[in-house]
Parts: sequence; C-alpha cells; structure tokens
Amino acid sequence: MKKRVAIYGSTGSIGTQALDVVEAHADLFELEILTAHSNAGLLIQQAKKYRPNMVVISDESKYEQVNDALSGDHIKVFAGEKSLIDLAGSDSYDILLAAIVGFAGLSSTIAALQQGKTVALANKETLVVAGDIVSELVSKHHASLIPVDSEHSAIFQCIVGEAAGAVEKIVLTASGGPFLGKKPNYLINVKKDHALQHPNWTMGAKITIDSASLMNKGLEMIEAKWLFGLQNEQIEVIVHAQSIIHSMVQFVDGSMKAQMGLPDMKLPIQYALAFPHRVQNDFKRFEFKNFPSLTFEAADTKTFRNLALAKEAMYKGGNAPCVLNAANEVVVDAFLKNKVGFLEMSDIIESCLEKVAFIEKPTLNDYVLCNTETRALASSFIK
Ligand code: NAD
Ligand code: MG
Repeated sequence: MKKRVAIYGSTGSIGTQALDVVEAHADLFELEILTAHSNAGLLIQQAKKYRPNMVVISDESKYEQVNDALSGDHIKVFAGEKSLIDLAGSDSYDILLAAIVGFAGLSSTIAALQQGKTVALANKETLVVAGDIVSELVSKHHASLIPVDSEHSAIFQCIVGEAAGAVEKIVLTASGGPFLGKKPNYLINVKKDHALQHPNWTMGAKITIDSASLMNKGLEMIEAKWLFGLQNEQIEVIVHAQSIIHSMVQFVDGSMKAQMGLPDMKLPIQYALAFPHRVQNDFKRFEFKNFPSLTFEAADTKTFRNLALAKEAMYKGGNAPCVLNAANEVVVDAFLKNKVGFLEMSDIIESCLEKVAFIEKPTLNDYVLCNTETRALASSFIK
C-alpha cells in the first residue's frame, strides 16, 4: 500500500524538496494534496507535473486562475484557509507534511492531529506557539508527530529504540549562520542580501534570517522541548559551523549518540515520510576525509540576543513563546523589507515580551488573540 501524502506549503523550500522525494519513490508514495499561499503559477505547474487529486490555494483571490488552468485535469481545486483546515481533517491522505511557514501553519496541523493523523512537522512555529496544546492533542487522539527539522530528525533518529527516561540531555547544533564571529558594531549595518547568504543551507527567506540571528536555534529549543517531552535544563545548544553533526543525545549512562550527514533537507524529509522504514537513495554521501576538522564553540548570546530571548521565553512558559514568535515574524518581515535593522529586531522582540500580558495556562483561543495582539504591538514599533 502506497502512503497518500498531503504537502502543505508545496511551493516553498521544504515543499519543493518533498516533491522531489515523493517523485523519486513513486513505489512508496502517491500525492493527494498540494497547497500554496499565493504562488498560483508554481502551484499550477506542480499540479500538472505531479498530478495530486486536490490542490488548495489559500489566497482566495487566486482561485479562478488556478481553477481555470486546471480545468480538464481532473484535479479538485479549493481556496481559503477553511479548505486547508477541512482537508487536513479529512480521510483523503495518510501523512501530512506541514511545511507552511509561521503561525499560519498552526490551524491545519491542529486539524490533522485532532483526527489522529500522522504529521511530518517542518513548521516549528506550531510547537513554539502552542506546544502544550499540540502535545496534548497528539496523546489524546493517538496522533503522531514526526520531526522534519534536521536537528529534531537527528534527535529522533538517536532515540528510536531507546527506553523512555533514557535521555539525560540533548545538544542542538547550530551552524552560526553567515555572521558567525561577528560583533554588534558590524551587525548594526548588515542588510538582507548578506543575511540571506547562509553558508550551509538553502532555505526559505524567513528561516534564513532566523538562522542569521540565531532565533532559529531558540525556536528549535522550544520545538525540542515539546517534541521530546524534555525539561528546559535538558536542552543545550552548541555552534558547529560545518553542519555535519545534526544534533546529539546524551543518555543517562553518559553515552552520547550523534546523527551525521551532509546538510541536505531531503534526508530528514524522506526519513519522516517513510518512517519507520529507511529508504535507499542516491543522495551525496558524507566522507570523513573531506571534513578533517569538525569544530564546536559556545554561542555568543550577548551579540545574538535572540537566542537568549528565546531561552528566557522557554523558561517563562505560558504565552511567552507565542509572543516571541509573533514579534519575530513581524520583525523578520520588516527586516526583509529594509524597514528595521538587524539588531533592532531583538529590541522589538524584547519590548513585546515585556509589554504583552503574561498568561500562565493559555487556551488555543488565548494563543490566537496573543498572536494578533503581539503582531499589532510589534508593528507599532516599526516606522
Ligand atoms: P518557504 O517560505 O520557502 O515556503 C513556505 C510555504 O508556506 C509556501 O509554500 C507558501 O505558499 C506557504 N505559505 C506561506 N504563508 C502562508 C499562509 N499564510 N497560509 C498558507 N500557506 C502559506 O518556507 P520553508 O523554508 O520551506 O519553511 C517552511 C517551514 O519549514 C518553516 O516553518 C521553517 O521553519 C521549516 N523548516 C524549513 C527548513 C528549510 O530548509 N527550508 C528547515 C527546517 C525547518
Ligand atoms: Mg533546523
């Protein structure tokens, strides 16, 4: 039986790589749903090439364009966020790859988990915003959440087969991004073109800026906490510029496992889609002789304050990570439009964390309202 796959966010960096994986393993997977926000042209191209049964364009103003282009192709076309949610909760697929970027990915992932589905999760913001509620849904509905983020895939691969309670701590590796070793007097002037040049990974714009500011690693600490049911103290970060070790787990007996490979998101995507099986492929192999030195150093959280702010939000709990995420989405968007400076992003996030009222045990609706409120507040700091 082939696995029927829904790719939410198929036009993005993760989405397009997932299509390559699915195409390379037509014996294992068949495509059921593709979704895009506003890139109608690419969605139409993908639909004609990969032949899913359904597509969703969440920007409703593009519905006619997509529907006209696919008329006669026997592909059902839907539009709007409600369709994303309805199809995520439907029986039409077996595994949903959540590869929408940002808070926008939360509602469809929740709809899938409420139906006890298997979700391959790339959208880390879902767990940052509402990790407690998402984890409760997973256990209540016997759903599965399989990580796609390379660090979390690494940890997942290290703990497969280990007993519950065997983990002492995890160590998330960070590449350090394009500004590794730089200080504030340099960072004050950096612009988006430079920040978008990641040394090891090619990714969507938002996560690339998050990697440059180390917010990505902060979001990943919170993501790991909920995925693996860890205490805050069990989560460490180390800068490893080569991005060969994707993360490590230390067990209670002191033994440490690391998962390694060349930086290529297709591997964690394939692992998540095919889990629990490992599937042969022709990806380029890592060789030790090409990497004679793998280096490790502490992160400079005085310069890259976003990582410190994220850690603080994780320890504070409640709606603090939701505030952090919403403020970050606004400032990253503004940085990409040259409206705020690189270092100013942390100032605005910090102000939002100070000003938005703390809620210790938020409901899902509290998170939705908190996201809206924080976005408005963060926007008010931007000229
Ligand atoms: P991207 O910007 O390249 O693609 C985002 C996708 O989401 C697109 O298909 C877009 O149409 C869709 N989208 C955007 N806004 C939407 C909205 N409001 N409603 C519905 N759909 C919307 O992003 P990406 O780099 O592929 O990242 C996707 C997610 O995966 C992010 O959460 C990111 O943190 C995570 N992730 C990405 C990588 C990577 O290598 N790119 C690695 C690890 C984790
Ligand atoms: Mg990652």
